[in-house]
Amino acid sequence: METYVSALTHRPRRADPFPGVLTVGTVVLSIEAELGWGYHDLTEPPIARLESAREGWETLVELLDTYRVPATWAVVGHLLLSKCDRAHATHPIDDDWFAAERGDWADRPELRFAPGLARTIVDADVDHEIGCHTFSHVDFGNETTTTPIARAELVASLEAAESSTVPAAMSSVVFPHNSVGHRDVLAEWGFTAYRGVGPNGDPPSTSTLRTIGSATIGTPPLVEPTIDEFGLVNVPASMHLYGLSGAAGRVCERLWGDPVVAAACRGIDAATDGDDVFHLWLRPNDLVSDHDIERLRTVLAYVARRRELSGLDVETMRTVAKRVTAEPAQSMRM
Ligand SMILES: [Zn+2]
Repeated sequence: METYVSALTHRPRRADPFPGVLTVGTVVLSIEAELGWGYHDLTEPPIARLESAREGWETLVELLDTYRVPATWAVVGHLLLSKCDRAHATHPIDDDWFAAERGDWADRPELRFAPGLARTIVDADVDHEIGCHTFSHVDFGNETTTTPIARAELVASLEAAESSTVPAAMSSVVFPHNSVGHRDVLAEWGFTAYRGVGPNGDPPSTSTLRTIGSATIGTPPLVEPTIDEFGLVNVPASMHLYGLSGAAGRVCERLWGDPVVAAACRGIDAATDGDDVFHLWLRPNDLVSDHDIERLRTVLAYVARRRELSGLDVETMRTVAKRVTAEPAQSMRM
């Protein structure tokens, strides 16, 4: 918090040397909306995260409205359903993949379905994007994920969106574990954008000295959206807002305040001063404690402040993709 305040009050405003020329960058916020699906294949899922995910989702919608920040909500397709047969027999993945629905979570529909929560995204005051986080949180980069499995995950997501009461023309994909794969299948089914791996790798390790160093000293990387060989726009990740956790995170906070807020604010400043993208991401189930919520509130307030004072842009992955594909290559970086 200390660094956040000082960044606001002591950072000198840079005069715009070329009035009228776009020199301000963009903040993109993507959200992995998965509830139970982020953990259904684990023998010991993190209970606190599971139990707080729905409330975290509602808090996130409210805070994004408060600070008028639009986001890309990459929703696990199964959450758009109201019911299922627990078998998904036509899905080419191994039968065991949906075992939690028949076992521990047989009586936990709130972990498997969320059409009501999805509705809160489209009913929000700000204009969010609903993207795809696969149908059941399959790792697309894993070699056991065949093309038919990847295709089934995307098609089932599109069908769930189409039959849902939530209007969602999905065009962006956030891969589970940010594990990129089967991009040709994304293109085949009309997707236009995905979140790629950032310069620092993703997801970051949570307890290494390198992570501590980058969170307390360095500035997280800005990224430049690019068009890949399938015509998809890659909007790489810059930073997980909850990537520094556990014991290492607590040590940092005792020593320096919340290092993640400080790092995120430096990333936002860097985006404001340049013309690249600072791509933050998080999950509703990251919002477990009041402290987690305060971190998000502080960062969103800083985004809103920089937008107001400096014209920082806030875009969804879809609008970034539209802009990048519409721009001639020479004018992408003015
Ligand atoms: Zn199911």
